[in-house]
Amino acid sequence: MLYEYTLQTRKEDFTNITVKVKEAVGQSGIKDGICVVYCPHTTAGITINENADPDVVTDMLLGLEKAFPDRREFKHAEGNSTAHLKASFVGASQTVIVCEGGLLLGTWQGIYFCEFDGPRNRRFYVKVV
Ligand code: ZN
Repeated sequence: MLYEYTLQTRKEDFTNITVKVKEAVGQSGIKDGICVVYCPHTTAGITINENADPDVVTDMLLGLEKAFPDRREFKHAEGNSTAHLKASFVGASQTVIVCEGGLLLGTWQGIYFCEFDGPRNRRFYVKVV
């Protein structure tokens, strides 16, 4: 089963998409399997991290900014090389085990769509097998 979702992002942010992914797993009817969450963009990605304290997302964005600063040496004409670097760092997808009809996530884990070059209209896919 393949599900497509769209979202409107801000300049740079993490959107918690856990509810959408759970919805896809529920609709699929699959009780035990694998769920892949995939981002088809080169300046956005998918990650799993803490869903309780919103400061974690703020700090992650700050940390990524420090780890991947804009550099004069970058040649990419579009001028968004830091966004490409951050997208590759977090990765384009996450895989979560489906067990007894639900996602096998830890108590504090949430699934996030990570925007690094917004605002844009984005989409992501959820495949449950
Ligand atoms: Zn680019």
